Amino acid sequence: MATIVQNIQEVHRRMARACATADRPVQSVTLLVVSKTQSADRVRAAFEAGERCFGENYVQEGIDKIAALADLREQIQWHLIGPLQSNKTRIVAESFDWVHTIDRLKIAQRLSEQRPPHLPPLQLCLQVNISGEASKSGLAVDEVPGIARAVAVLPRVELRGLMAIPEPATDPAAQRVPHRRLRELLTNLQRAGLDLDTLSMGMTNDLEAAIAEGASLVRVGTAIFGAR
Ligand SMILES: *Cc1c(COP(=O)(O)O)cnc(C)c1O
Repeated sequence: MATIVQNIQEVHRRMARACATADRPVQSVTLLVVSKTQSADRVRAAFEAGERCFGENYVQEGIDKIAALADLREQIQWHLIGPLQSNKTRIVAESFDWVHTIDRLKIAQRLSEQRPPHLPPLQLCLQVNISGEASKSGLAVDEVPGIARAVAVLPRVELRGLMAIPEPATDPAAQRVPHRRLRELLTNLQRAGLDLDTLSMGMTNDLEAAIAEGASLVRVGTAIFGAR
């Protein structure tokens, strides 16, 4: 069985090939290692392989892992990529560096109020329901500009961009459609004057399609740690 280190190397090869195909510099795409359900020891192995950005889905699991890896705290960026309820905002504001799943203004307001003054602003992405499924979380596309403007002026957070989890598709051309839509939405916000630089999109099965459409950060779990 391939080790975590070999899997990480293979993911970077995939990212590099996708960047070359898209005529983009490799440094324009960051790997976010999705460590949900993985032990702190496995996160440490990925850290030792050179990774610095880790994504957690569940608040309490993330908090526990951040504590278990406290010796690495200054070197790791911890990203919350799962749903956030308003009763958990304080611990998230105190513990994480990024939150990708803002889908209500109220959550961003609470995070801004609760972000401790000694920490840099919490980095935020708005989650967009880009495939338009009724059951999925995320903002509807037409809600995004208004919420983006309101979040962008909050004092203790910094709005960085957009995140989506598109409906799974196997055909590469079909995979590109929702990623393209998210990129166009970001471009519209930038044209409207918002200073945004992040497109959080692409996972194990569609990272090439996401990079082809401008992803700046891909979130990869299975290709690194194996099936959960
Ligand atoms: C689990 C998860 C990922 C990683 O998915 P893989 O297919 O394992 O690479 C990425 N983003 C989010 C929001 C996730 O919940």
